Amino acid sequence: MNPRFDFQIHATDGKARTGTIRMRRGEIRTPAFMPVGTAGTVKAMKPQDVRATGADIILGNTYHLMLRPGAERVARLGGLHKFMNWDRPILTDSGGYQVMSLSDLRKITEEGVTFASHIDGSRHHLTPERSMEIQRLLGSDIVMCFDECPKIDQPRDVIARSMEMSMRWAKRSRDGFDSGGEHADASALFGIQQGALDQGLRKTSADALTDIGFDGYAIGGLAVGEGQEAMFATLDFAPGQLPVDRPRYLMGVGKPDDLVGAVERGVDMFDCVLPTRSGRNGQAFTWNGPLNMRNARHAEDTGPIDERCACPTCGTYSRAYIHHLIRSGEILGAMLLTEHNISFYQQLMQGMRDAIAEQRFAAFAADFRRDYLR
Ligand SMILES: [Zn+2]
Repeated sequence: MNPRFDFQIHATDGKARTGTIRMRRGEIRTPAFMPVGTAGTVKAMKPQDVRATGADIILGNTYHLMLRPGAERVARLGGLHKFMNWDRPILTDSGGYQVMSLSDLRKITEEGVTFASHIDGSRHHLTPERSMEIQRLLGSDIVMCFDECPKIDQPRDVIARSMEMSMRWAKRSRDGFDSGGEHADASALFGIQQGALDQGLRKTSADALTDIGFDGYAIGGLAVGEGQEAMFATLDFAPGQLPVDRPRYLMGVGKPDDLVGAVERGVDMFDCVLPTRSGRNGQAFTWNGPLNMRNARHAEDTGPIDERCACPTCGTYSRAYIHHLIRSGEILGAMLLTEHNISFYQQLMQGMRDAIAEQRFAAFAADFRRDYLR
């Protein structure tokens, strides 16, 4: 049987690392990209097709699932894995970020957050303890601490106070998770570094989390509108403040060029809605940059979306057909583009893993940027 949680780094190249996380429900090859399955589904894809793209782990959203169908209901139905038919690892977020970004009437106190559902206006209370309970009821494999993600452009003292509260919430999350009995014995808990773009606050946050002790460490509070240059400037120091022998997870990132730049700076895990959401909006990611499949130039193009892509969509369907489906609002267009985009992201991650293992990551990144950002 696999261990509860074990991370081995197989090779490093510069700051980039490749390795394997072993957990009860399977292995996660890093650097890893986690497709987002917001409401118990990676939108427009069956679980077996998500797996066939090479995804080792998916992400589920606590906020959405607690509101509908409800965590207790998912637990009565056997947990999220059984409910959605995905038997490999699932990481769940804590709900904190989406309460801040999606719900109405938020009131944040030391105790937690009171908010109104964006679905029906019903009132809910989320605390570190309740977030741990919900993630346990869902049966999450990697549980995230409950934290506050403040708006990035606030004064330093506001960012500092928010980060300090998130560190107290991290301790409460740790205690809540540890009281979870069998679930705590079979799953993992990640802490989340905050501190916006400030090196000193990031260091204080990293030290507070390391003192508590977690299986892995996320870099939170980025990809919230600061731009790639500021994000990379923060990633020049933030990953190195976290324990070297634990996975580092950059939450909510990102575009393909974000992933390459973050791996280059020592990040191991990612999640983002971009490949799925863009697929539903007619955007395809390719090694030569993103394509808008609505564009008339694809109308009679018999070639695949990407000549270098090994996915079923590219092996079977033309740009012209996908262009037609997207322009017609056909569901199959969203399905085929989502499959391609998730596959492309996984091929990008595999390319980075191979390049790190073979000590040629700098050349891989240079080739990628030459083609992708041209
Ligand atoms: Zn493809």
